[in-house]
Formats: sequence, structure tokens, C-alpha cells
Amino acid sequence: MKRIAILGSTGSIGRQTLEVVSIFPHLFQVVAIAGGKRLDLLVEQAREFSPKKVAVTGEEEAKWLKEHLKGPEILWGEEGLNEILEGIDLLVLALSGSVGFLPVLKAIEKGIEIALATKEVLVMGGEIITQRAKKKGVRLIPIDSEHSALFQLLEGRKKEEVESLILTASGGPFYGMKDEFVKKVTPEEALRHPVWKMGPKVSVDSATMMNKALEIIEAHWLFDIPTEKIKVFIHPQGIVHGMILLMDGSLLAYMAQPDMRIPIGYALSYPERLNLPFKRLKTQDLLGLTFEEADSEKIPALKLGFWALEVGGTMPTVLNAANEVAVRAFLEGRIKFTEIVPLVREVMQEHKPFLIKDVEDILSVHRWAQQLTWRKIERC
Ligand code: MG
Repeated sequence: MKRIAILGSTGSIGRQTLEVVSIFPHLFQVVAIAGGKRLDLLVEQAREFSPKKVAVTGEEEAKWLKEHLKGPEILWGEEGLNEILEGIDLLVLALSGSVGFLPVLKAIEKGIEIALATKEVLVMGGEIITQRAKKKGVRLIPIDSEHSALFQLLEGRKKEEVESLILTASGGPFYGMKDEFVKKVTPEEALRHPVWKMGPKVSVDSATMMNKALEIIEAHWLFDIPTEKIKVFIHPQGIVHGMILLMDGSLLAYMAQPDMRIPIGYALSYPERLNLPFKRLKTQDLLGLTFEEADSEKIPALKLGFWALEVGGTMPTVLNAANEVAVRAFLEGRIKFTEIVPLVREVMQEHKPFLIKDVEDILSVHRWAQQLTWRKIERC
């Protein structure tokens, strides 16, 4: 039995993780779950999976939970997080955004294997996370579909054999559309992705293509591959999730239905594979697959991603923080869809990047970028 804890159990990835777990009750035991604001759902999940611990962010929520949920220990705050990491074999990190940064470091410190869905933490401080994980011998298993694909393709292979890593991108709902149309995009429209069902942050990121910017940085840190070897292909059908080109000219591709439960299943069971009862690819799914190399000159968000990675140091931290704030402001109706990426660029331009020495460097640059982005939004 693998004992798991899920941080962010009420979000899209968290819910799908529980769905996979529920198919294999003899393999996985949910020891702890933690959620944010959807307390009703958290109670429902606790009743179904009987975790020993349930954690929330604040004391108020913990109070409410204590009244509505009998059985599990109710925890909150940093102490709650510490408690959740006790007595588990695997942490599923499925929080939305940079709030997952400190929990990841804590899990690494405790030597706990991590199934990682929260790509933002690697953009924010990938260098420190991967260094510490390596030192502690902690495995980071990606849940992000492209990275799960690449992880599987790269397994057992020497790094020197790899000529390039190719991440695919669907292009999001507005790819190739005219500017006049995209300017008027509402949060609701941005949340409707043609291929994937996802949470709000990643849906907006997919629509701006910032998601792919975050993902190239994520890939760089996860697989220790230099920037110039990372490529992005536009592949609207979302069947091929990743490819690697090897030095003998072989191009290996990973294909699967665009269904997050597949990479989640692999991250949960790694290195074993689960007999998942979900839809298989059929020959008709393979008809008319198209690929086009993404031109980062024409995709502003992607250009920022490569730029941040080339500059290095604290620049990716700034990209991530500014983007988080801009996406939130867009979802709150405070800025236009087409203002998200230029806002991130402006904040990056005002940043004087430096090499990261410790966690405090990351946290302070993160705060600086958040504040500057909010100030710019207020001036809009
Ligand atoms: Mg992805």
C-alpha cells in the first residue's frame, strides 16, 4: 500500500487523483488531504476516502471543518502542512501556483517522493528545488502531461543521446485568431479549452500560451536539458504529448488520449503501470495529426519563456509571479485578456536579474514582482 497525501485535493488534478485512487483501493491509501476554499467538497472527500488528516489554510476554515466533519484530525496553517507530510510515501502536489513552493521544499527536506502537478513551483525556484531533491535523493515525478510523456521517453536513456526535447502545445482556444477578436475575450471564454478540462489558472495560461512558457522552464529543470535543446510544436489534436529526438536521428513520440488521469496514474504507481479503465486511442484518433514548429517570434508568451530561461537567475521567478497576478486580475475582470502577456513583459523588463543563492532570494523577488504587477494594474 502506498500512503499518499494530496495537497490541493479539491482542485481539478486533486479530484482526478482521488478518482484514480478509488479504482485501486488495494494499492493506495489516502492518508491526508488538504484543500482551500471548497470546504463542502473537502468534507465529501474525507467521508469517501477516510483520511487520517484533513488540512486547510486558515483557522476559520479549520473551525468550520471541525463542526462539520467528525473522524479525521483537522489541521491548519504551516503546522498542518508539517503534520500532513508525516507518515506518507508520496506527496501529490496539486495546488494552483506558487503557494506550492514551500510545501515542496519541506517535502524534499523530509525525503518524500513528489508527484508534481504544480509547474509554477519549478518556474519560481527550479534550481533550488532540483538541487535539493538531488541531494536528498528525492524523485520528482511530473504529472503535467507533456512532462510525463518526456519523463517516460527519457527513462533509462543517457542525456548525451538526446538532441532535442519537443513539447507539444494545442495552441489553446484562440490560436491563430485575429487580434480584434482576442481583445474581447471574456474569462468565461478563456476557461473553455478545446482539448483539456482544467482548472482556471492553467486554462487561462493555455489560452495566452504562457502555459508553454512555464512548461519549457519546467522541462529544463526536471530533465536538466539546456534551453537550446527544447522545442515546442503546435499540435492541435493533443494526442502526441511529447517527443525526443535522439542523436542517431530517431524521433520517439509518446501518445495517449488527452486525459490527465493517465499521467496521474503513472505518477502514483511509478515505476509500475496501472491497468487504467479509460478510453484507449483508436486508429481514427491518429488520422490527420498535424505538427508545426511554434515560432516564438509570433507567440509573445513563448518568447518571454525562452527569454527568462536564457537570462536565468531570478528572471523565471519574475515571469511566474507577474503572470499569476495578471491572470488573477483578468479573471476578476480588472484587465483585458490581451493585457496579460504585455504586463508580464513590462515587469520582467524592470527587473534586474541576479543569481539565486537561497530561498529568501526567490521569495523576495516573487513578492517584488507581485507588488509591481499589482501597481501596474491599478494604474491601468
Ligand atoms: Mg501541460
